Amino acid sequence: MTDIIQLLPDHVANQIAAGEVVQRPASVVKELLENAIDAEATEIKLIIKDAGKTLVQVIDNGKGMSVTDARLSFERHATSKIKSAEDLFQLNTKGFRGEALASIAAIAHVELKTKRPEDELGTAIEIEGSQVKSQDVSVTPTGTSVAVKNLFFNIPARRNFLKSDTVELRHITDEFHRVALAHPNIAFVFYHNGGELFHLQQENYRQRVVHIFGSRTNEKLVPVEEETEVLKISGFVGKPEYSKKTRSEQFFFVNQRFIKSPYLNHAISAAFEGLLKTGYHPSYFLNLTVDPKTIDINIHPTKTEIKFDDEHTLYAILRSAVKHSLGQFNIAPVLDFEHQSSLNTPYSYKDKAGKAPTIEVDRSFNPFADDTENPKKTTSSGHTHFKKAPVANWESLYVGLESRENNPDDEFSAVSFESDPKTESIFSGDAVEANKTTFQLQQKYIVSTLKSGMLIINQNRAHQRVLYENFLKHVTIKEATSQQLLFPLQLHFTPNESKIIKDLKTNLEHTGFAFSELSETDITITGVPVGVPESEVSSIFGQLISDVENDVPDTNFSAADLLAKSMAKSLAIKSGQALNHTEQEHLVNSLFACKEPNMSPTNKPTFITMSVDDIEKKFM
Ligand code: ADP
Ligand code: MG
Repeated sequence: MTDIIQLLPDHVANQIAAGEVVQRPASVVKELLENAIDAEATEIKLIIKDAGKTLVQVIDNGKGMSVTDARLSFERHATSKIKSAEDLFQLNTKGFRGEALASIAAIAHVELKTKRPEDELGTAIEIEGSQVKSQDVSVTPTGTSVAVKNLFFNIPARRNFLKSDTVELRHITDEFHRVALAHPNIAFVFYHNGGELFHLQQENYRQRVVHIFGSRTNEKLVPVEEETEVLKISGFVGKPEYSKKTRSEQFFFVNQRFIKSPYLNHAISAAFEGLLKTGYHPSYFLNLTVDPKTIDINIHPTKTEIKFDDEHTLYAILRSAVKHSLGQFNIAPVLDFEHQSSLNTPYSYKDKAGKAPTIEVDRSFNPFADDTENPKKTTSSGHTHFKKAPVANWESLYVGLESRENNPDDEFSAVSFESDPKTESIFSGDAVEANKTTFQLQQKYIVSTLKSGMLIINQNRAHQRVLYENFLKHVTIKEATSQQLLFPLQLHFTPNESKIIKDLKTNLEHTGFAFSELSETDITITGVPVGVPESEVSSIFGQLISDVENDVPDTNFSAADLLAKSMAKSLAIKSGQALNHTEQEHLVNSLFACKEPNMSPTNKPTFITMSVDDIEKKFM
């Protein structure tokens, strides 16, 4: 047999290598922005068309390149940033592999224009799929412009694999956030399809955070400052009551490089211990400065993970610094049980003229129901709401119940957010419940008898199923009724989050939501689906955003499905919620009226049965 091993042709090897550096348009954005920063630019412009599929361009006012360097910059392993392996341990630049431009040029049409301050004229180079098409002298401002067009033009499989513009733009925006946050001393502008998404001046770190995440972020930031021999920390954590269901506001920068570190993230969570509801994540924007010798950023090709020499010490310092800040700024004792809900004015009420009170009769009022809990002060995202009186007509399931969210598994929720005494009302046994066919176990399960044995229903999952089918019907049949809000509800989001909601607008409207404003950062809601308590709206949107971020819907059908699931998750009766007999029965009946009663919307069993045989076996 003849020998069979061959060297790959260069252009194939280049394309393969390129695949490691460039996964999507956002990777190009990251590499080009980092090159501009390494070139000591003070102003950087990012121009995107069609979520980067048509164009990614970065223009900087940095130090530019000579004619030879301009040509060399596209060679693989051509870098001005390190000269020897030792330099790897002294890195002060973002790049060092000399791979980015070569990789990008292998799979796109690239136009480079560059000029050094000391030169009269600059250089323009055009490359397509690693082939230099032209090189000219060019009249161009000092600095560098790199335009990357038609990404993956020669790898159709890769191109077809790109997600929708929404998704790709979200990735780009994420990269932009990371770079812009790490460098508040650099001015950035970011355009997409001709529209300006961000315009950031040179500013301090607090201003940068606020300009990226919206003006209402300011009130939630708690400064963290610490300086020790091994580590300097500066930046902010978000107050606990502004914690989010997503991890979208968690940023560590080590020596101005964005990194992901589950270990250090744990240090922050530990500092917040006891202050957060389960499922909520603290926001943080923290800059760590360490000696470059003590880190190895080389372990991950896309460089978001790094290895520290002494992680344990960093962990301890970080945790105590954050804890200290939370304590110092009086965050830790948010156990503000005395807080009067009547003093809580929803944000949107602020500028409103007074209105004569109207008389409301709460027909669902049940003097025997447990009504001792205090109103929640603020929701996860910081919007102030009144806790409404129990909403009557959603499902009779809710009668006499507040839509509280206390979960006995969540040992902290009672301490941190709600002063909900766990003591049951002495009446909760409900003396009239004579002919019970169901009872509640651990405030979590509903147990009922069957002819052939016993049925145990998980109340949370069962209710999710009921709500899910109900919402799905509305979204797809489009005949939900909306209940007009007396005062429009204004919610504040990041541009990314608003985009998600905008994309789902039609679906949301079909379930009964109505909007009067959908801007970059503000969403004004004028109507909600009948029976959805206003106090839950913010949490529904939070859930929805986090679900979309985790499972991006591709089609309208799956968007509707996802919306129905998110709403069901947000609104379903939780474990830990006491249900009276009528409520239990109603839930059981509604569950078995469903099309697929066996499974929750997330495909977990809603109930189990135990036959008499099973029971008898246990007694053997
Ligand atoms: P690396 O950044 O790892 O060195 P790149 O392929 O990204 O590799 O860039 C190669 C070289 O091209 C850099 O080392 C730098 O000398 C030069 N270069 C790239 N972009 C710029 C820019 N915007 N301004 C000045 N020089 C640049
Ligand atoms: Mg680079």
